[in-house]
Amino acid sequence: MASKSPRNVAIIGAGISGLSAAYYLHQAQPDWQLSVFERAATPGGKLRTLADNGFVVETGADSFLSRKPGGLALVRALDLEHKLQGRQPEHARTYVLRGGALHDLPSGLSGLVPADLSALSASTLLSESAVARAKQEPDIPADLPDSDISVADFMTQRFGAELFQTMIEPLLAGIYGGRADLLSLAATFPQLRTMVETHGSLTKGLQSAGPKNASPVPPFVSFAGGMSTLIEALMAALPVGTVQLSTAVDSVTQTATGWSINGVSYDALIVATSAPVAGVLLPHIAAELAAFPYGSSAIVSLAFNAGQVILPQGYGYVSPRIEGREAIACTWSSQKWAARAPEGQVLLRLYLGRYGTDITQKSDAELLAIAIAELKETLNITADPTRQYIHRWRNAIPQLHLGHQARVAALQNKIDALPTLALAGAYFNGVGIPDCIRSGKAAAEKITAH
Ligand SMILES: Cc1cc2nc3c(=O)[nH]c(=O)nc-3n(C[C@H](O)[C@H](O)[C@H](O)COP(=O)(O)OP(=O)(O)OC[C@H]3O[C@@H](n4cnc5c(N)ncnc54)[C@H](O)[C@@H]3O)c2cc1C
Repeated sequence: MASKSPRNVAIIGAGISGLSAAYYLHQAQPDWQLSVFERAATPGGKLRTLADNGFVVETGADSFLSRKPGGLALVRALDLEHKLQGRQPEHARTYVLRGGALHDLPSGLSGLVPADLSALSASTLLSESAVARAKQEPDIPADLPDSDISVADFMTQRFGAELFQTMIEPLLAGIYGGRADLLSLAATFPQLRTMVETHGSLTKGLQSAGPKNASPVPPFVSFAGGMSTLIEALMAALPVGTVQLSTAVDSVTQTATGWSINGVSYDALIVATSAPVAGVLLPHIAAELAAFPYGSSAIVSLAFNAGQVILPQGYGYVSPRIEGREAIACTWSSQKWAARAPEGQVLLRLYLGRYGTDITQKSDAELLAIAIAELKETLNITADPTRQYIHRWRNAIPQLHLGHQARVAALQNKIDALPTLALAGAYFNGVGIPDCIRSGKAAAEKITAH
């Protein structure tokens, strides 16, 4: 990329979106002066690993999807591929809670879609009638509205209500923490609609695609030292002093030539916070930013003496909304990943809080009580935890609800008119880490192109 006269760029937020923006901007224009302002005392936002007496605890995200563009490319650019860690293959098994008991998640899923309909009967999760209904999928006519459709309506139409509610809904909740009946198919899984429109059904679409090329990189990956490894590498790739920690930006002012923060002028600005925070900083587009709903969640990780806990083989379980529990998922972190707990200890992680209630309002004691009760009821764990780690994520996960793309387009329209401003974050085109990296890279490209 051609070098331009050195510029001074401010980036607000040192989560994965803001740090990716800074990284790609620095790669493209190494002589530009970048200032990344971060409110917290540590960088990374929702990517933060605690290393505590042999425990490796993820306070937020615990892995990312390697097949989504953006993530692996950054990992390779940072020369981190050798540190990637896949899930432990000897525990390759996931459960679904139904009627209070754990049932195997049927094998053969391609993303959310049961690609192997014959495998459905091998699990005790679904009733015979649900399996029979799912097997009709290839013959269910494609009856799609011209407008957007919710993932719940789409999947129920394809596979029936029981399979959707017990198998697909909890997997969706594990990603969005939200409500599938409000979730936009166009914003989350547009390829599924295309598949039905092109091939008449998801089953036929997957069959016509043939077997996927086996990638040497596992589908879900973390790093040996946890997700903070990625943040540390990004920090190390930026000139010393670029990221100013414990430095909240309360307001920004647009000037004739760019932007001003606390009296310092910048040629360009990237805001890489959540949409509500960006709305406070940028009042002229606050209405567009306020249109993105957010959900809150809490992560409670508990350690136990291994001798006091009997865990089935596996990575953990997901819990459908119809089970009516506050825990969306329980990950058996020390079985899912290598070296997450010291010898003789196990580490379990509960993902609490469903969209529509704010679990972060609960006290530590209340969150702990929910987690302990959950483990007693589902895994019969009666021992006291040896360690506990509680993290609240308030208004943390954007909900890509019906109409999301129209909201993004309205926002895009406004910021297209402002060449010195770019936005990055999970509320654009996906909440996953690779999506955030792509949004940061796109923001850097916009500012570089100006
Ligand atoms: C509990 C949980 C689990 C998740 N699990 C996964 C997972 O396993 N895999 C996956 O791919 N995704 C996962 N996600 C989603 C993913 O982690 C997030 O979408 C992503 O990390 C968001 O990154 P970001 O940089 O856009 O925002 P953030 O991480 O929120 O970063 C924004 C930063 O801006 C800072 N900031 C805010 N206001 C100001 C201000 N005024 N001035 C200065 N700084 C400010 C914040 O302190 C923060 O550091 C999970 C999310 C949560 C909450």
